[in-house]
Amino acid sequence: MVSRVIPVDTFDLVIFGGTGDLARRKILPGLFRRFCAGQMPADARIIGAARSEMDSAGYRDMVRAAIAEFGGEQACDDATLGRFLEQLSYIAIDARGDGGWAELQEAMKGTDRVEAYYFSVAPALFGDIAERLQKWGMADAGARIVVEKPFGRDLETARALNKTLATYFNEDQIYRIDHYLGKETVQNLMAVRFGNMLFEPLWNSQYVDHIQITVAETVGVGGRGEYYDKSGAMRDMVQNHLMQLLCLIAMEPPARFAPDAVRDEKLKVIRALDQPEPHHVVRGQYQAEPMNEAENPGYRTAVENARSRTESFIALRTEISNWRWAGTPFYLRTGKRMSARSSEITVVFKDTPHSIFEEDAGRHRNVLSIRLQPNEGITLGVTIKEPGPGGMRLIDVPLDMTFAEALNPEEVEQVDAYERLIMDVIRGNQTLFMRGDEVEAAWAWTDPIIEGWEARNDVPKPYDFGSAGPTDADQLLRREGRAWREVTT
Ligand code: NAP
Repeated sequence: MVSRVIPVDTFDLVIFGGTGDLARRKILPGLFRRFCAGQMPADARIIGAARSEMDSAGYRDMVRAAIAEFGGEQACDDATLGRFLEQLSYIAIDARGDGGWAELQEAMKGTDRVEAYYFSVAPALFGDIAERLQKWGMADAGARIVVEKPFGRDLETARALNKTLATYFNEDQIYRIDHYLGKETVQNLMAVRFGNMLFEPLWNSQYVDHIQITVAETVGVGGRGEYYDKSGAMRDMVQNHLMQLLCLIAMEPPARFAPDAVRDEKLKVIRALDQPEPHHVVRGQYQAEPMNEAENPGYRTAVENARSRTESFIALRTEISNWRWAGTPFYLRTGKRMSARSSEITVVFKDTPHSIFEEDAGRHRNVLSIRLQPNEGITLGVTIKEPGPGGMRLIDVPLDMTFAEALNPEEVEQVDAYERLIMDVIRGNQTLFMRGDEVEAAWAWTDPIIEGWEARNDVPKPYDFGSAGPTDADQLLRREGRAWREVTT
């Protein structure tokens, strides 16, 4: 493997919620992979913190099991795992009480290392932890905090949360995670857009017909039914993940690839985003799997709310009112229990102004597709002559812009989004994290849409298990002479 890894400065990372699902599935295995890659210094410390009573040895056992289960194929040998585990310890702490805080304060005392506190707990505890970090003298100017989604459930709660965190920390200490921003392809999108002369002149309403963003999941609500039913696809996916992808695809070139320069441009996109017309929004709820209802129940059964009006699917059409994009539709779509797990941004360019190939007129368009999962990569569909005899027949072929072969995938290290983002926290780089005003602007756009449904008593349309969502979502594009990209793996 080619090592381009630059070790980060040594650090102390406290993971509140260090025994939880996210810590076990993503954060700790990710840190281990960074350790294996030589990026995590040998004297860095990771301190798990949660209410469960256990000692550091017990915590190491738990982390060892988590890495075995979720570590992925990059996990390295047992001796290395042993060395990694030695850097871990555990403190039983109650975010809402005083237990454990003195011990944590003692552990963090007098170090001149990077100090980071990961709030991998329910958002209701963010304020309690921030307050106690300050009370116990750990909120000094060098400390960084990482907060998970959801960041509020509407503008009011997001504002309140920003205000609470701002009481104890400056904005440059707060890292609001959206793991979509840590994906390799999302960063590659920025490289392709802003590192090439080729695309920028075409990147506007004059040449782009429309843009689609799809985040399709095959899973249902699973064990999160109670939470999800109070949230829905708009709050859970559109307000954060799809909005962030929309920003990156639509923003103006920032003056520098620097945190505030990038985030200023993203904010301008959100503020220029039109409110969709009510008939430009389609909401859906998935149905049970036929003949297998017990295992894969429909949405309302899964959330145990027979009258639920929460959407597990949403498709909408919006526009961005600025010089670059006025008149270009942006279609967003996300849902559960769809036909395949797939996240993709598609830029569909306009037809050539005149086709000299008569029988092919209007049948070929350049399509840039940015695939986030699975099989991350960027391809550009170009039209060429079908090789061989038989006259001038045109076909579309994909030009692979991830240059997998040129870079030799065996030699390029794959880094998970969480790993990258945690290392960015340690480096002090906020470029891939959401700023408070961005989050608020996203809620300011989202709230009136949700309020509209509530005022109209809007009921989501049922859609088949394993489908592309309700048929009305197809109509959204079809009535404008367009079609969604197929949801495939
Ligand atoms: P989880 O499995 O329920 O874990 C919650 C953690 O918080 C546990 O370690 C729990 O341990 C600890 N905790 C609960 N009450 C506490 C208290 N009063 N004081 C100290 N620790 C306390 O939740 P999760 O799925 O890991 O999610 C954590 C956060 O990440 C949430 O904000 C969630 O929305 C977000 N998130 C999760 C995922 C995911 O895939 N899981 C994805 C995106 C975002 P004790 O019970 O021992 O205290």
